[in-house]
Amino acid sequence: MLSHFARAMRLRCPHCGGGPIFTSWSRLLPACPVCGLGLEREQGYWVGAYFFNLMAMETVFVVWFVGFLLATWPDPPWELFQVVTILLMVVVPFIFFPFSKTLFLAFDLLIRPPEEEDFAAPHEQARRLPRSSPRDAS
Ligand SMILES: [Zn+2]
Repeated sequence: MLSHFARAMRLRCPHCGGGPIFTSWSRLLPACPVCGLGLEREQGYWVGAYFFNLMAMETVFVVWFVGFLLATWPDPPWELFQVVTILLMVVVPFIFFPFSKTLFLAFDLLIRPPEEEDFAAPHEQARRLPRSSPRDAS
């Protein structure tokens, strides 16, 4: 169970640990290049990842807010608080974005273990070519 999340934190496939599964910070491959697990398991799948990202942002905010007040009470510099809060709320979702996807995938794989149809078919059969085209017959 923990290995799923450890792999996710390394931005690897939570199922097998293979990768890389990202082509850029925000772009995820459609399937794991090692085990073939389809990374978007159903339509609209990433709403869960956005929820994870929102939770991460709110956690960072609460930790920052409480820590800031504890450190500066009774005279907190509110302008500094405002500037740093805005910066955090812009930067944290961007930094956490790929982790939100892999962590949500790890969480989902624990609840719904992968089945046969979750794996992309890497060896699609080639279409059979006709022996001779109709033009050759005439
Ligand atoms: Zn994999």
